[in-house]
Amino acid sequence: MTYQWEFHGGVKPNGHKSLSNQTPIIQADIPPFLVLPLLQHIGDPTEPVVQVGDKVLKGQIIAHCKEKDCSVRMSVPIHASSSGTVVAIEPRAVPHPSGLTAPCIVIETDGQDTWTERTPLVNYTALESAKVREHIGKSGIVGLGGAGFPAHIKLKPDGIDTLVINGSECEPYITCDDRLMQERPHEIIIGAQIIKHVLGGAKHCIIAVEDNKPAAYQALLETAQGRVEVVKVPTVYPTGGERQLIQVLTGKEVGRTQLPAHFGIVVHNVETTRAVYRAVQLGQPLLSRSMTVTGGGIEKPQNLEVLLGTPMRFIINQCGRKPGIERLIMGGAMMGFALPDDEMPIVKTTNCLIVSRADEIEKKPKPQPCIRCGACANVCPINLLPQQLYWYAKAKDFKKAQEYHLFDCIDCGCCAYVCPSHIPLVSYYRYAKAEIRAGGRDRKKAEIAKKRHEFRTFRIERDKAEKKARLKEIKANSEASRKAAIKAAVEKTKAARL
Ligand code: SF4
Ligand code: SF4
Repeated sequence: MTYQWEFHGGVKPNGHKSLSNQTPIIQADIPPFLVLPLLQHIGDPTEPVVQVGDKVLKGQIIAHCKEKDCSVRMSVPIHASSSGTVVAIEPRAVPHPSGLTAPCIVIETDGQDTWTERTPLVNYTALESAKVREHIGKSGIVGLGGAGFPAHIKLKPDGIDTLVINGSECEPYITCDDRLMQERPHEIIIGAQIIKHVLGGAKHCIIAVEDNKPAAYQALLETAQGRVEVVKVPTVYPTGGERQLIQVLTGKEVGRTQLPAHFGIVVHNVETTRAVYRAVQLGQPLLSRSMTVTGGGIEKPQNLEVLLGTPMRFIINQCGRKPGIERLIMGGAMMGFALPDDEMPIVKTTNCLIVSRADEIEKKPKPQPCIRCGACANVCPINLLPQQLYWYAKAKDFKKAQEYHLFDCIDCGCCAYVCPSHIPLVSYYRYAKAEIRAGGRDRKKAEIAKKRHEFRTFRIERDKAEKKARLKEIKANSEASRKAAIKAAVEKTKAARL
């Protein structure tokens, strides 16, 4: 079945998918060291529960959120992705455009890959959905399409009647979901049924596959046997965006201030769905993910199942590093970001590495002034006015940029893709968002400092007043005792005279 609705805008960039989608997913080697950042998801950070020198087993929890029960928080625990010894807990560079460091647990692997005890919920249908949801939370599963949102938070059954499994994978270069759907369709179908159960038996379950992935569509269709609906959606970027996919499938437009749940819909990526299958049926927490390693700098572009925490350099070497590598991008060509080097680890949200040589990087013409052609607005899937956002971001008029819904921008890059003046529009939006967030953090810090100062002043004044009152009381008491003593002495003298 194919759906006929469309979303506004979108583009059709060159996919470059045949570079990596021709061969099966292979298991990546175990690296000598694993570097596991304490925060790999959107939400509350985790804290280590191991120390340097501890031996750890594969699947063992090594960090969880402060309250210990991450399943009720906007957080998920971090697990050791292989067995070994904790050799450091320290800041390391993590995948971020700035090359930021963040606290990480470093494990020296022992090559044995020895598992801790696993606790699958094989008969999950006999269990309450809350129990299964808690298990999924404790298994460390987050949105693996790139968002990193804790999956169990999106599994509350509050009025959800449609479950959408997103297999559209619209970003150029990325093919790991395509291969996964071809090779592991039964795991995705069972994962979808588990999610349906957790959602209290959502009435509809749809797996959406872009029509440029016929083998994946066929594999899912044959495996589903009517248990879930498998549909083709048109190959237009960014169909894989949550809101765009909902619009294509249902014709419903999720507004700026709304969530899919307002329409009784929840969307999970195919890889996340497969992670749910592994957690519930096999008792395996999220320890690895499939990802694409591609680009002209790689001898054998391919998809691999990679242990979380594996250094990027190790994976690139396994795929064959060509000389003259100039650029490394994490994520797709449209929404990914360049990394300063390949020392960083693969984390839960790393779905792709694009490794490019200098001679294949298209020399971008120098940006020219905006000619107000409106091409950017025509392709914006959110119906924003990208040129206005650009003007205000450039002028640092962040108030105006927010009035023009800067934070609704999904950084999809469609506007920059079509801009005839070659303006790096998304860089301006990212800069403006970062500045506004930093400003917000500074304001929050200033408010906290102000409150602390006010409380300190109040406390000093209160202490002063209390001290004064106490002194007054002591003085009054001593005056009373003095008077009483005089009175007693006078009375004693009087009595002696008699
Ligand atoms: S596409 Fe480029 S040149 Fe045209 S209006 Fe948008 S920003 Fe300006
Ligand atoms: S990057 Fe933002 S402004 Fe540009 S097309 Fe995408 S959503 Fe619209």
